[in-house]
Amino acid sequence: MHLPPDVFARIAADGALGEEFAALCNFGGRLAGTESERAAMEYVAERGSLASSVPCTSLPVSYGGWRAIKAELRLSDGALAACHPLVRSTPTPAGGLSAEVIDLGRGTPEEFEAHEKEIAGRIVLVRHELMFAAGTIHRRRKYNMALEAGAAGFLIAGPLAGALVTGSSGRNEGDAGIPAMGIAPETAARLARTAAGWAHATMMIETEEYEAQTSTLLFDMPGQTDEVVVLSAHVDGHDINESAMDNASGVAAALAVVRTIAPHVQGWRRGVRLAFFSAEEWALTGSARYVAGLSDVEKQRIVLNINLDTVAGGKRLTALTSGFGGLEPFLLETAEANGHALRCVRPLQTNSDHANFALAGIPAFRLVAGYDNPSANVRLVLTPADLRDKVTEAELIKAAQLTAAVLAAGCNAPSATVTSWRKLSK
Ligand SMILES: [Zn+2]
Repeated sequence: MHLPPDVFARIAADGALGEEFAALCNFGGRLAGTESERAAMEYVAERGSLASSVPCTSLPVSYGGWRAIKAELRLSDGALAACHPLVRSTPTPAGGLSAEVIDLGRGTPEEFEAHEKEIAGRIVLVRHELMFAAGTIHRRRKYNMALEAGAAGFLIAGPLAGALVTGSSGRNEGDAGIPAMGIAPETAARLARTAAGWAHATMMIETEEYEAQTSTLLFDMPGQTDEVVVLSAHVDGHDINESAMDNASGVAAALAVVRTIAPHVQGWRRGVRLAFFSAEEWALTGSARYVAGLSDVEKQRIVLNINLDTVAGGKRLTALTSGFGGLEPFLLETAEANGHALRCVRPLQTNSDHANFALAGIPAFRLVAGYDNPSANVRLVLTPADLRDKVTEAELIKAAQLTAAVLAAGCNAPSATVTSWRKLSK
């Protein structure tokens, strides 16, 4: 056992865990390209260095910056309804986009297909789903189906009464797109089809696009060989909340883990690379650039990516193992040996930075709280309710402890074990 015996107790007693979590929330939602994100990245660079006792390597990341200047949704009776533009939404024509609204319910592929001939020229309305559940259909998929079917616009209704929902359209720089907004469920109800026909609405979105810069923050703690385990978390979020669960929780937990294990890593077989990404909410841009910049040799040296994203806001923890079935016995054994319950869910879910590692052939998993639990607080991610009060200190501690155990075990696992992780099982 390479995990020093007092590590769990030290994490539980680490006052900085709660302080750093609160400090991240204090910056606000940390939407990439805002002052909130810039200040948070600066803070994380400093805290990462303190936790790891190594200097921060900051890799510049340029990406398609975007800002909403104005967003408005007018219903057919002339009333304005609250709305929030999805990240990287295209603008509407200056006078707005007036069209009928076709309500496709949840927005499954079947619903899109059944209404295929009615979508062109209309505004598609779908529902935001619990993201951390089997069978969930991601907002970006619905947006892309609407785009492909020739929709004029896209509305997505949130799960929380009286509250908007946000998220990214997933549209990259230069891609085609349609104006897209999050709305409250009550607004969706007012856009229902009636005997008189489809409802009518006018969307108005004014945006600005520019070449933006952010960074990836790396802290390298070498072990005995040049192999490493990458522990990652994204700093950025959305501007309608504190992005507390998603993902101040992951950043704070990663810092606490590193603070506790840093003095031991030099004696371990493999090193630890702590990585903080931004522009995650922008179609995973920060980590995509990072992984794309790795040589084949560097990719081989990364034996595992442990990605912490939304690790509090639910009692139980799940590892999304991205198709790497070979990882699961290792994760379950390590969790059990350390008194933690863990569930493994295998299908690759491209909902966080681990996906870019997995797609490059690097064994990767996302640790997430509240998976498949419709009453867990994580259902409120991307709504105005993603605030610090949705997270308990006990949840942060538990996530950090389990992560420390997996990190220590991963850094010291025999080569044969590590080789078994790389096998994809579908
Ligand atoms: Zn996230």
